[in-house]
Formats: sequence, structure tokens, C-alpha cells
Amino acid sequence: MVKNSIMTINYNCPHKDRPHYARGMCRSCYWKMRYKTDEEFRKKTLEKIRKAVKKNYEKKVKEDPEFYRKKSREYRHKYPDRWNYILARYYFRKLNDEKRKELIKEVMGIDVGVTNEQNV
Ligand SMILES: [Zn+2]
Repeated sequence: MVKNSIMTINYNCPHKDRPHYARGMCRSCYWKMRYKTDEEFRKKTLEKIRKAVKKNYEKKVKEDPEFYRKKSREYRHKYPDRWNYILARYYFRKLNDEKRKELIKEVMGIDVGVTNEQNV
């Protein structure tokens, strides 16, 4: 392996201790750059990841149908506050704007004119 000269090192890559290859980046920075800039590559990568996640899910369920139920139960017992927060957020998002305003007024005692559109 030929080590790249210092001139070709891309200084956007913060990993100065790693070997540098294409465009003067280390491996992880190069693939990150490809992911951010190349739409085709991004699509393919996401597809691959989704497939792998689904495969893993099916494998686990095949081994033990209760696996994910057990995990969720464990989490619920271990972090009851976080679990309640997740549920509250989940159901809050299902409400329409009027219901959200009502609920905020009921719980917080404040009148909200405009709700955040990002949460819709
Ligand atoms: Zn890097």
C-alpha cells in the first residue's frame, strides 16, 4: 500500500491517525460523503439496511415469538417514566390541532395560539 502524501489529505476528515485513500479521506469519511451526496447510493444503502433489519426481526421472532414483547415489557418496567413519555408523545401526535390545544390548556393551563407544524 502506498501511503498518500500529506498534500492529498482532505482536512474535512478529522481522523488524522487513519490511512487515507480516495479523495484524501479515511474509509468512514468517504462512505459518509458518498451517502450524503450520492442519492442512488443512499437508496441502495437504506434498502440493504431495511432488508437486514427485517431479516433479523424475522429470525428473532422465529427463535422466540415473545422476544420483542419481552424486551418491551422489560423496558417498561425498567424505565416507567420514559415509557409513559413515549406513549404520551405517540398519542399526542395522533390528535388534531384543536384537541392538542385543548389538552395543552388542560394540562399546562396556558392558551396556545399556534402549534408547532413540525409535530403534525
Ligand atoms: Zn475520517
